[in-house]
Amino acid sequence: MIDHVDGRSENPMIPDGTVAGVVPQSSRRRFVCALALVAGACWLGPRALLGSGDPIKYVVQRGDTLSAIASRYGCSVADLRRLNGIVGDRILAGSTLAVPSRGAVSNIEAIRRANGAIGVARGRWQYIVAHHSAIERGNAAIYDRNHRRRGMVNGLAYHFVIGNGSDSGNGEIEIGTRWAAQHAGGHVRNSNVNEHGIGICLVGNFETRRPSGRQLAALVALIEHLQGEVLRHPTRFAVHREIDGVNHTLCPGRFFPTREMHRRFG
Ligand SMILES: [Zn+2]
Repeated sequence: MIDHVDGRSENPMIPDGTVAGVVPQSSRRRFVCALALVAGACWLGPRALLGSGDPIKYVVQRGDTLSAIASRYGCSVADLRRLNGIVGDRILAGSTLAVPSRGAVSNIEAIRRANGAIGVARGRWQYIVAHHSAIERGNAAIYDRNHRRRGMVNGLAYHFVIGNGSDSGNGEIEIGTRWAAQHAGGHVRNSNVNEHGIGICLVGNFETRRPSGRQLAALVALIEHLQGEVLRHPTRFAVHREIDGVNHTLCPGRFFPTREMHRRFG
């Protein structure tokens, strides 16, 4: 049974099935964490309050309805109609809709409430491991679909995903099904760390740029919340390449502020 992202990552795909990334064979290892962008559906996304950021663009898929899109993005059908000048309910597959950007302010409060309802297996978690997705698009649902397509029966390999404003809010934290169910992660090759490590993925390719300030603020807030309020025991912070080795992965990329994070979290 495949249940982890194991370094055989393929070219990321976008929803219409075309290849989105140019991935030279020589740099395939940089894409250990690159996850195909396709299909699937179940993740727990605590709804953030609508932020004041710029709307994001959403390409309408076959079978989409305004109410389904509104539900997915935590806005109302009226918001979508107003933003896009739509009268009625008709939307065309392939057209682009503006969708309100969520998470302009970190949704850590929603995460705190969600964690209060999850029976967290406190003693289990000994590591917190940071990743990048190595692609600029995506969110928990999209990566979940991709991981299921790749045969990971528990879906999304990470426990949390922090958006960059493309397919979820910039700095918006999403909870994956593995965290909700307190399942092992599938985010590293090291099986002990999958069993005992919380995987947090920031959307973006940090081999080419730094994470956004909102993403980093959300990451810090999430780790402080997990360590201080949820687990309440020492946990080791690491980035992916420190667990699996730089020859296996460059994750989370050279522009991820690894040293700053270690200064903060040891
Ligand atoms: Zn990684």
